[in-house]
Amino acid sequence: MLQTALNIDVRKTSKSRISELDMKNLQFGKSFSDHMFVATYEDGEWKKAEILPYGKMEISPSTSAFHYGQAIFEGMKAYRTDSGEINLFRPEANWKRLNISAERMAMPIISEELFMEGLAQLVNLDRNWVPSDKGTALYIRPFMISTDEFIGVKPSDTYKFIIITSPVGAYYNTPVRVLVETNFIRAVEGGIGYVKAAGNYGRSLFPTRLAQQRGYDQIIWTDARNHRFIEESGTMNAMFMIDDILITPPIGDTILAGITRDSVLTLARDWGYRVQERKISIDEVLDAHRKKTLQEAFGTGTAATIAHIAGIGFEGKDYELPPVEERIFSNRVAQELEAIKKGKSEDKHNWVFHVK
Ligand SMILES: *Cc1c(COP(=O)(O)O)cnc(C)c1O
Repeated sequence: MLQTALNIDVRKTSKSRISELDMKNLQFGKSFSDHMFVATYEDGEWKKAEILPYGKMEISPSTSAFHYGQAIFEGMKAYRTDSGEINLFRPEANWKRLNISAERMAMPIISEELFMEGLAQLVNLDRNWVPSDKGTALYIRPFMISTDEFIGVKPSDTYKFIIITSPVGAYYNTPVRVLVETNFIRAVEGGIGYVKAAGNYGRSLFPTRLAQQRGYDQIIWTDARNHRFIEESGTMNAMFMIDDILITPPIGDTILAGITRDSVLTLARDWGYRVQERKISIDEVLDAHRKKTLQEAFGTGTAATIAHIAGIGFEGKDYELPPVEERIFSNRVAQELEAIKKGKSEDKHNWVFHVK
């Protein structure tokens, strides 16, 4: 056992599995690196922090997370630069957001040191798992679950905070067709739409499957009151370029504050674009489409960075958007973010964290 500054016990695997991995054919979320980080909360504090060989864990059927869904997560990536260094992108933003989720779900806060040290040491130990081809990355999944073996309804007294990592291949940015959903909803005011809780995903699977059966890739969620205002695109934030103005719904309690969203808005402002964070209705988007002022529509998120929207389905009609090659802003911002993450473009906003 190695002891580190934060008392992270490190137990290394006796045999790396990396030779079994086909780095040229990576499937999203299927293979996991050699190690995992596990911290244990009990008696009112984070007690044990360990890096262990990735593997199965023994969990009781009465574990409270299974029953009442105290389960939250984050998603981020580690990138390999041309010189072989490993970069994280805005990891402290993930740490802050995890704590916002924790508070809403009555779960314990995680210190910046515990999050950052666990993350940096794990990624450093498994650095061979960070792929280097264009567009590839090591996907990082920090998450927290309640672990009381008790099926009474109350916040758990014990938790685990775990980080696992998974090498992911180049994301083929095939433009998506989206269906504007006017029946099911993702989030309501006063609810948990603004946090990365497992339940937000569970509830979206059935409506998304119905949309996919109708030939769409994703749903455009609308507001719970009137089904008129756009909320998010699948599990991404939604943005529209109309008449050279970048418009995106404002962060509130129904919209997840995406780190990609914030980064895209920051770059747009840097470049002198007009940016509006305000409510935008589907009528406004389709009206712009009719007037030919709708230049771009896209989703933003860690997985794809930018997902171009090729077409929008609404009330039985399909609206085609301009070809992706003509979309100046979304192509430029996708390229610039990739360049910053890979250390090829100046990191003006101090977004890059080097793993040493
Ligand atoms: C994670 C997530 C996003 C994107 O957030 P990023 O920090 O940009 O990855 C957007 N919407 C929802 C609902 C999400 O869960």
